[in-house]
Amino acid sequence: MTSRLSLSEVRRASPAWYRGDFHVHTNFSDGRYPPAALAQLYAGRGLDFFAITDHNAIGSFTEFGEDPGLLVIPGLEVTLEEGHWNVFGLEGWRPWMDEVCQGRITIPLSAKFSGTSELLELTRGQGCLTSINHPLLKPWEWRDLATDLRLVDAIEVWNDPLWPDNAQASPRAVDFWTRCLNAGLRPTAIGGSDFHVLPGEAPPYPGEEPGLPLTWVYARELSAAGILEGVRQRRKAYISLGPQMQFFASLGDEHFDIGADMGLRSGRARLKTTVSAGPQGGRARILGGAGLIGEAPIVDGQAELHAKWGVRADRRQWVRAEVVDEAGQTVALTNPVFAGPEARPARVTFGEIERRTEG
Ligand SMILES: [Zn+2]
Ligand SMILES: [Zn+2]
Repeated sequence: MTSRLSLSEVRRASPAWYRGDFHVHTNFSDGRYPPAALAQLYAGRGLDFFAITDHNAIGSFTEFGEDPGLLVIPGLEVTLEEGHWNVFGLEGWRPWMDEVCQGRITIPLSAKFSGTSELLELTRGQGCLTSINHPLLKPWEWRDLATDLRLVDAIEVWNDPLWPDNAQASPRAVDFWTRCLNAGLRPTAIGGSDFHVLPGEAPPYPGEEPGLPLTWVYARELSAAGILEGVRQRRKAYISLGPQMQFFASLGDEHFDIGADMGLRSGRARLKTTVSAGPQGGRARILGGAGLIGEAPIVDGQAELHAKWGVRADRRQWVRAEVVDEAGQTVALTNPVFAGPEARPARVTFGEIERRTEG
């Protein structure tokens, strides 16, 4: 008997930081691995979860066997000429898939939809989480400039770091995400390896590694529903190529973790980030919308950085932490702590944010 991937099945019942990969392909699209073997590979790397995100296909959902060995989140990479986005949290066929899952890797958006916004809104309305993938990685970059970014729950700011063009495209995606935050949007930053092939095989896709980058998510339990809630509601997540991080703000005796909203408070908040397994010669940094707030060197893999941050009930702000290596390359980054009134921006399009990036 085959079992299907499920949103509610709990692999571990305790709240904790869980680590995984949000972007993985099987041989049901253009990956090489059959589902069960892929799960075995990922479980062997010690990951807690991965999301299966085949191009315009969900055939793998029944092929993971009775126990894949780790949590497999059912997803789909909607792969359009207009752009690629992951829909996470599918349990089976939905009518809109008739227009998407047509047996081809890339298709144009069906004329049944007025634009990507309409399809994003539809999938989101069905309880799924939406995440734009590799938004600035040519030739698969996001092209629908009219997309309403309020419909996007997450942005894959780091796609496969071993793909040469991501050396440019990922920092630009982080910049794009930063401008979303400054515009009052709160998409959660996540990462995905975009894994397709067997390690060591001749590369049509050079160098992908399962779980590179890792996204750490704090979740109430290890289930697909728990991880997706951690990404969408809690935003308590960070992305890493190796270092482990903690980051929080405190005001008086209140503590606000990664992803938390301090709300309408005023005062001088204390910020703290700690890093372990950091790169030799690297630095821990804390950044806000206006730039660098503080930094500290990593010594013997460790750093502890303290900084002060003025918050005001009438000013919208955010602050986040990251780790850079000796060459200045970012190797881990957290989602923000937010403060001040929450913006409820009118429609903000991809094109508006991109123009700000270019500008
Ligand atoms: Zn893609
Ligand atoms: Zn992909």
